[in-house]
Amino acid sequence: MATISLEQEINPWEAQAARFDFAARKLNLDEGLWRVLRYPSREIIVHFPVAMDDGRIEMFTGFRVLHSQARGPGKGGIRFAPDVSLDEVRALASWMTWKCAVVNIPFGGAKGGVICDPRKMSQGELERVTRRYTCEIIEFIGPEKDVPAPDMGTNEQTMAWIMDTYSMHMRQTVTSVVTGKPLTIGGSRGRREATGRGISIVCDEALKHLNIARDGCRVIIQGFGNVGSNAARLMSDKGYKIIGIAEYDGGLYNPNGIDVCALSDYRQRNGSVLGFKGAEAYDSNDLLIADCDILIPAATENVITSRNADQIRARIICEGANGPTTAVADEILADKRIFVIPDILANAGGVTASYFEWVQDRQGYFWKEAEVNQRLESIIAESFDDVVRYSEAHDVNNRIAAYMLAIDRVAFNIKQRGIYA
Ligand code: GLU
Repeated sequence: MATISLEQEINPWEAQAARFDFAARKLNLDEGLWRVLRYPSREIIVHFPVAMDDGRIEMFTGFRVLHSQARGPGKGGIRFAPDVSLDEVRALASWMTWKCAVVNIPFGGAKGGVICDPRKMSQGELERVTRRYTCEIIEFIGPEKDVPAPDMGTNEQTMAWIMDTYSMHMRQTVTSVVTGKPLTIGGSRGRREATGRGISIVCDEALKHLNIARDGCRVIIQGFGNVGSNAARLMSDKGYKIIGIAEYDGGLYNPNGIDVCALSDYRQRNGSVLGFKGAEAYDSNDLLIADCDILIPAATENVITSRNADQIRARIICEGANGPTTAVADEILADKRIFVIPDILANAGGVTASYFEWVQDRQGYFWKEAEVNQRLESIIAESFDDVVRYSEAHDVNNRIAAYMLAIDRVAFNIKQRGIYA
């Protein structure tokens, strides 16, 4: 790969495009289809006012990008963060297209975001931002058009507000306009834990594939939000040993294993994992390069880059976050023979359960949790198998295999539908 600056390396859109181009070339993708799939099909930018608690009027900027609807309605989360940018949302929207195709569910890819800092806003301010943003993009979302979900900085409550705002405008309750809702208003059992559960399933499959025992397998997780904490809990129940947790404000390390339930309780009470007695304080960046069997980056983009990839000592990297590894770091990890379970497979449990939620809302019939979990398990395990078989058949790494599988599926649908002109 040509030498590129760190700024270019950590641009998520460039990271996505580099993998897409490589996989498309390997697939011998038709040049016209390459042009169709390389860029998003719709990019919306909205600037809107919100009255803050102190009476000031503040302007906010929001995005909603639809990358592809070739396989079904757009699908993907909405992110509230101070550093959201159009390039990031574009990349995340494309990743949603590939992710839905890897797990073979009938959605395209989309993503949204609002530049704001949810940690510094009151519930009232968050509600007003959410409702006004929803209103600004209202004609572009809908159960058959584009179905948002939670992502960084948003949660079940945010989805409830979006559902309510949309429903008020439609003059009827439309639960299937968003997924990741609270259980009592059209949410699905098992959705909240689904991304973490998916991670635990692909880790199980990777261990079987590599012939490594699960009992006592040492895991370090970056991020203790919805994804990281659920992965930690489910995996420690299965016999994995969670030896490190890296959070944005500091990390924890205990070679004998951290009591994940006690840590969750502690974080609930104190708002941070720092000061937890059941482990020693540890630098979060050092945890990424500490000795372990599985490293799970489950926080944000660009944490494994050309700067630290060669120091990583994990045998397996399982990407709970979207885009945690840069394209340059991919090559370094491949040289080190680290088995990478790429984001578009590893964290696809969330959108898979979102699909179940959308189906249940439209059926008006809700499944038992065991049914959700069992269907999730079979889709994720099968997708893992598909990706690994693809990688062996085409002699490429798992990430490129996942992209190839996804691009192939999306391109096939576009060919079948034809180009409307
Ligand atoms: N934001 C999650 C993701 O990146 C979930 C998307 C969804 O459920 O639609 O996969």
